Amino acid sequence: MQLSVQKALQRQGERLEFRVELGLEPFEFCGDQIAPCGPVLVEGHMMGVEDRIELDGVIHARLKSSCVRCLSEAVLELRVPFTEKYLREPDEEEPDAFLYEASAVDLDQMVLGNLVMNLPVQILCKEDCKGLCPKCGKNLNEGPCDCDSEPLHSAFAVLKDLKLEEDEP
Ligand SMILES: [Zn+2]
Ligand SMILES: [Zn+2]
Repeated sequence: MQLSVQKALQRQGERLEFRVELGLEPFEFCGDQIAPCGPVLVEGHMMGVEDRIELDGVIHARLKSSCVRCLSEAVLELRVPFTEKYLREPDEEEPDAFLYEASAVDLDQMVLGNLVMNLPVQILCKEDCKGLCPKCGKNLNEGPCDCDSEPLHSAFAVLKDLKLEEDEP
């Protein structure tokens, strides 16, 4: 999506508000399929400094993917603050800056980059997701399965042994 920066170029040094809704395509990140639940909201300020454009603001996105533990749908609410520069020509001193032509800057790549940098290492449906039983494949968030009594029992046994040792004089 292109954001017109004509006003910012004309009114040098003035912080001008902007607010746009961006339709982002689903994307893949580290093997995870990620799809926006709706338009991504980008709001903030733009400022023209000579022929450079400085943008700062916040990206609000709701993304959907699948939980790495139980494979059910996981929804991520992201609120990502950003500060970016757009230049007419590449500048060695500004390796992270984006380039733009004419009087509009492209937001897609900038927004995608900021979202990706703020994705959690592991996408989970909820923080304490219990995952699937490795034996029968049941989603353990929906309740225990029949094959989980054994490891649970041995875990308690280990705890009991530790307790006993501590209590010994
Ligand atoms: Zn899960
Ligand atoms: Zn099971």
